[in-house]
Amino acid sequence: MEKLEQLYEGKAKKVFATENPELLIVSYKDDATAFNGLKKGTISGKGVINNRMSNFLMGKLLEPKGVATHFVEELNDRETVVKKVQIVPLEVIIRNISAGSFAKRYGVEEGIVFDEPTIEFSYKNDDLGDPLLNTYHALALKLATKEEIETIKSMAFQVNDALKAYFKTLGIDLVDFKLEFGRLSDGTIVLADEISPDTCRLWDDKTHEKLDKDRFRRDLGGVEDAYQEVMRRLMGE
Ligand code: ADP
Ligand code: UDP
Repeated sequence: MEKLEQLYEGKAKKVFATENPELLIVSYKDDATAFNGLKKGTISGKGVINNRMSNFLMGKLLEPKGVATHFVEELNDRETVVKKVQIVPLEVIIRNISAGSFAKRYGVEEGIVFDEPTIEFSYKNDDLGDPLLNTYHALALKLATKEEIETIKSMAFQVNDALKAYFKTLGIDLVDFKLEFGRLSDGTIVLADEISPDTCRLWDDKTHEKLDKDRFRRDLGGVEDAYQEVMRRLMGE
């Protein structure tokens, strides 16, 4: 499968058309941004890790458990064929442990383990800074139907159950993560975008060392090593 014209360049990936109107090729970059694009940098080797990790988690872990995803085929280290979707403009965030904006917003420390996972939605809109919204707001803005929101919620919790259990076997606590969903041409909702240390908080379950993009956001150093360490535990390399 060949890349045709570039349709979009985002902060972390480029998206290309293919000869098949139902398929796209995504190409993962080493560019990193944080705080809605205010902080910019490069994490060497990140594109390769995020591509391979996302494909492994979607293709080998989630699809066999019945979670429909956009994943089709890994072409090479940085490029993957995915099903083209119309992205539902919601960032779906699941949390198992307090951290980041949750800790800040509610004035609690990081590291509180919740009895039940939480879910929240942000309106995926860079100009507005991805504002938090609830399902009534999403319906009022016609971002998705009631039925789609129900599907997205149940798929997101299913993803959490599978990922949380799997990461635990690698000695990693899945703290929180962001998912994006999309509609295939027939309207079916599938998991899209990526699952990677850019979009998940991953803490070593013994040392509580951060193995994710917070090392970049918070200038903790060892960013590349952290991404490599997750990859090593995940795929034995
Ligand atoms: P951003 O747009 O936030 O800068 P990226 O650099 O990751 O993010 O760009 C990838 C873009 O492609 C995102 O806008 C994402 O919503 C979109 N996307 C992800 N998967 C698909 C898909 N299967 N079909 C169409 N668009 C997708
Ligand atoms: N996240 C993301 N993209 C975003 C916002 C959040 O991938 O635009 C992920 C982030 O990596 C974390 C989770 O979603 O794993 C929860 O992020 P939070 O709301 O705490 O925001 P942050 O602290 O990143 O501002």
